[in-house]
Amino acid sequence: MAETKKIAVIAGDGIGPEVVAEAEKIIKRTEEVFGYSFTTEHALFGGIAIDEKGTPLPEETLSVCKSADAVLLGAVGGPKWDNNSKELRPETGLLGIRKELGLFSNLRPAVIFDCLKDASTLKPEVLEGTDLMVVRELTGGIYFGEKFRREGAGGEEAVDTCVYNTAEIERIVHQAFEIAQKRRKKLASVDKANVLETSRLWRETVNRIAPEYPDVELEHVLVDNCAMQLLRRPSSFDVIVTENMFGDILSDEAAMLTGSIGMLASASMGEGAFGLYEPVHGSAPDIAGQGLANPIATILSVALMYRLTFGYEDAADAIERAVAEVLDAGHRTADIAVDKSKALSTTEMGDLIAAAIR
Ligand code: NAD
Repeated sequence: MAETKKIAVIAGDGIGPEVVAEAEKIIKRTEEVFGYSFTTEHALFGGIAIDEKGTPLPEETLSVCKSADAVLLGAVGGPKWDNNSKELRPETGLLGIRKELGLFSNLRPAVIFDCLKDASTLKPEVLEGTDLMVVRELTGGIYFGEKFRREGAGGEEAVDTCVYNTAEIERIVHQAFEIAQKRRKKLASVDKANVLETSRLWRETVNRIAPEYPDVELEHVLVDNCAMQLLRRPSSFDVIVTENMFGDILSDEAAMLTGSIGMLASASMGEGAFGLYEPVHGSAPDIAGQGLANPIATILSVALMYRLTFGYEDAADAIERAVAEVLDAGHRTADIAVDKSKALSTTEMGDLIAAAIR
């Protein structure tokens, strides 16, 4: 029997509890099939924590997360809390949890499932073979730099400063090289080094680190060019590493190659193997409580957790294969179904995927 690992489970709001319940089924199933052992501890976060504890990120939730090996998160937010003050907004909890857990990178795989190629807005032949990972720096750059307003010659001015230091760049670049080593050994570092000083430091740092990873083929791509190449030759990318704002935009662009938000997993990592895993989508209040949510993004987040935190490659592969098998057999939730009348519910989809894990 493998060592017992602890997973903090945060269901959150809206469809969060519905999709997380299916992911927990998958965790149970992999215990049965592969002999792995997990304990799960549930904690309140987001809107539900505001209602029950008066804060989006209660101390006890943080301590549950800190004592765990990994965190599985559903989604937070909803119209009920949209007009709250900043401290009492679910999204404030999201920034807080990343900071408190020291999560400095966001990883988003974009993989094309053959049977869903037609759901993308790109031509199937352009998408063929696309399997990439965007590694986005999460805690520095223009989103966190000094911001202020002042009077200028042309009226009021607004200033956002973009700051990166060498240590911040080094840690994420090392992580990206290591991820590339475990994949197809190609890394695209994305910057705007022809214009921005932070990008010049970024590129210098990448070039200094690159000789430590001689097996990884490195290319530097300017961000505007990368935005184009993602649409023109997405399959030529393996790992893309970039700073916070460029990563925010490029990871959404890469995500849309796959066609559906209900299919996209993500991981936020710090030093070491600890990570927080969640679907890219939000709490989808428009479909919450109706059994319509696609649980695949959350289920694939469990596969990412197994691969990146636990190194359980066999179970991660089995989950991904099970998802592909169920989709290949024509099963769909409403968001990806052509014939909506035949769409499966959230739990039906979860059951089929669990049963397909072998
Ligand atoms: P959303 O991702 O919740 O929904 C966008 C659209 O996609 C909706 O039509 C929704 O029904 C659909 N959708 C999303 N996930 C789906 C799934 N699994 N299956 C089927 N359809 C799905 O984005 P939004 O509407 O902009 O935001 C809703 C709330 O979620 C807001 O309060 C927002 O702040 C919050 N949010 C939270 C996170 C997070 O928890 N990390 C991320 C994004 C948005």
